[in-house]
Amino acid sequence: MSRARVIPAVDHLLGLPAVQALAAAHGPRRVRQALDEEVDRLRAALVAGQTDAATRESAGALIVERLQHHLGETSESSLRPVINATGVIIHTNLGRAPLSPEALDAMRRVGAGYSTLEFDLATGQRGARHQHLTTALREATGAEAGVATNNTAAGLTLTLAAIAAGREVILSRGELVEIGGGFRIPEILQGSGARLREVGTTNRTRVADYGAAISERTGAILRVHPSNFRMEGFTERPALAELAALARRFSLPLIEDQGSGWLGLDLFATHAFPAEARLLLAREPAVRDSIRDGADLVAFSADKLLGGPQAGLVVGRADLIARLGRHPLMRAVRVDKITYAGLEATLRAFTSGRAAETVPVVRMLALPLDAIARRATRLADLLRASGVECDTAAGLSTIGGGSLPGETLSTRLVRLDTGAPDRVLAALRAGRPPLIARIVDDRVCLDLRTVPEVDDDVVVRAVRDVMSAPRP
Ligand SMILES: *Cc1c(COP(=O)(O)O)cnc(C)c1O
Repeated sequence: MSRARVIPAVDHLLGLPAVQALAAAHGPRRVRQALDEEVDRLRAALVAGQTDAATRESAGALIVERLQHHLGETSESSLRPVINATGVIIHTNLGRAPLSPEALDAMRRVGAGYSTLEFDLATGQRGARHQHLTTALREATGAEAGVATNNTAAGLTLTLAAIAAGREVILSRGELVEIGGGFRIPEILQGSGARLREVGTTNRTRVADYGAAISERTGAILRVHPSNFRMEGFTERPALAELAALARRFSLPLIEDQGSGWLGLDLFATHAFPAEARLLLAREPAVRDSIRDGADLVAFSADKLLGGPQAGLVVGRADLIARLGRHPLMRAVRVDKITYAGLEATLRAFTSGRAAETVPVVRMLALPLDAIARRATRLADLLRASGVECDTAAGLSTIGGGSLPGETLSTRLVRLDTGAPDRVLAALRAGRPPLIARIVDDRVCLDLRTVPEVDDDVVVRAVRDVMSAPRP
């Protein structure tokens, strides 16, 4: 017990300038609580003979130091920015799309105050929130109308509930897919109250298979983009336009889950993408093509290749979109004012031809290999100058996020020369800011395609810190 007598009185500790500063930052209640915990901890350690604080001064200094650490740790949000050096452009676990400056400005402007979210300035009466995106969606996709929902899972559930509840939805067995994170098409269908009517086989489904399944019970034909895998070999699926012709013949709506939100190359100048990216994007189904080819409703994510905030967009025929708007589920899945603001600004970047410069996801797709290689060489030079062994090597960036399955873009990796790559990866994750890298052929690699250029020096510092720290 006597050893614990070196602990200063709590009132004395609370009066110390360093503790007062903590109280101003974190609030006196939290500081008092944390201080009590640290005093108890030191008392226990002293009694157990586990610490050598011998004087009041050293005990006080130790408590203040631990208190600062304690409050620093516990007040840090668990949702934190990280640097994505994985080269995976749409990294769902890292928050999918970084937003454009224009989207962020719009979100800030609308979020900071009141807005016309559901208010008609001309009449002073209540307005409809859906209308805010109508023009931007029409111009971006060519569709008559559209709505925004919380994500595509919500958008598709709402669509099927409003259009086909209690009726059969015809779907190819080749498109009974799981997108990831619990999104399974058969379960979405079931949740919406529609009944699944499977046709064709896993690898081949023909228009005639759909035609043979149509009856008075049919509510819609559904087409799902198998966005995260690719089938090769003896495969067949009808072109969307053929399905649209069939649907029209029977006056059935054709719904497409397009997923990626890629709007189409025709919104870009020919020189916007290097040849490799251009070829890859030419293969990705585009929302504008789906509308042109006759899909009645198309659902897609706003935070994949569109590069906007999280949302699901459903666009298509005005009469069907109006049915979605009137359905009771609409209220449960609608988005807030900040999302509307961000979505509109992002869509405008595409329709005004600026997306390849301002929307980060598109910018990363459009980054020429030589620009990445130049940065990789500079970064490797800086690292070597401070004693970190590394080199650069050819590698592949992936698109990710359930779009362009298996598709990659050439990149230039910075490869660190370390042992224990798993341990280095973990140490980089623990840095400030956390740096997320990946291992290729047993070496820790950094892909600058997904790192904003302004962060290159932050990456250098982060790697230097880890590599110069004593090895555990
Ligand atoms: C990504 C994806 C979804 C899910 O979209 P969320 O916005 O994450 O709900 C659904 N369908 C397809 C085809 C997708 O690619």
